[in-house]
Amino acid sequence: MLLQYKQTLILKKIIILCIIPTLILTSYSTGKASAIADTISKIENNLSVEIVYDKIVKDTWSLVNYETCNDSVETINYLTVLSREYAKYPKGYFQLVGIKTIILGKKLRINNQYRAAVPDPYSNFLFLSIDGQDGDFPTEYLIHVMHHELNHCTEYAIWKDMSYKRNDWAKCNRLFFRYKSGGEYAYHHQSIDWYSVTHPKKGFLNLYSTTAQEEDRSELVALIMSDEGRKYIFEYYSKDKILRKKIKMIVGELNAFSNTSNNYWESNLGALIKKQ
Ligand SMILES: [Zn+2]
Repeated sequence: MLLQYKQTLILKKIIILCIIPTLILTSYSTGKASAIADTISKIENNLSVEIVYDKIVKDTWSLVNYETCNDSVETINYLTVLSREYAKYPKGYFQLVGIKTIILGKKLRINNQYRAAVPDPYSNFLFLSIDGQDGDFPTEYLIHVMHHELNHCTEYAIWKDMSYKRNDWAKCNRLFFRYKSGGEYAYHHQSIDWYSVTHPKKGFLNLYSTTAQEEDRSELVALIMSDEGRKYIFEYYSKDKILRKKIKMIVGELNAFSNTSNNYWESNLGALIKKQ
């Protein structure tokens, strides 16, 4: 009888020992899920957009593939950064741009080519890869991509063309300068360091900016909007007349588009622009 009692007691202890870690794990993952839901709800309210991270959404061209975000810590970290970065835009900016859904994924590809993002304003979508261009990319790069790609959508909202060529922009550059064939050119010449800020030519802070007008403008917007990137604007602004013209045009255009003059880019660059 005593033996049977002891056996029952041991069995009960084993069951309790098994249940406790399960309960801890369950409450941990429930906690993470609710943290994701809370962060998403905050972003959706602030930006008036829908955030999708756990399902596959079909793009305009049926060429985009990605995996859903299955790592809750990575997802929360990304959402926290996105929330901070996109809060820099004036209220209602995403509605003006026409982006209704931001889709987060991993291993994002278009036509089986890895991409850090795919702007799809035709369906009011912006696809962002939370692991960069297939890998473990630094937060600074992910921030740069968020602003760069949003600007492609902004240009689409203004010109109804993501590759619009502006005469006044072309005139900013030196007389014989010609852009390459587009951002796609860089994907076919990956041995070149396109993104380091080396100020390779007057008017250009990196080589990627020399691939196309729209990439030039989106690179500058990304540098203006990113706290790390903006230091390069300050470094080269007074030394480069072409760069000054381009920054002034971009700031003027963002002001006109958003119908604001009291905004993030003015408060960070307004004094610098007025000085020159
Ligand atoms: Zn681009």
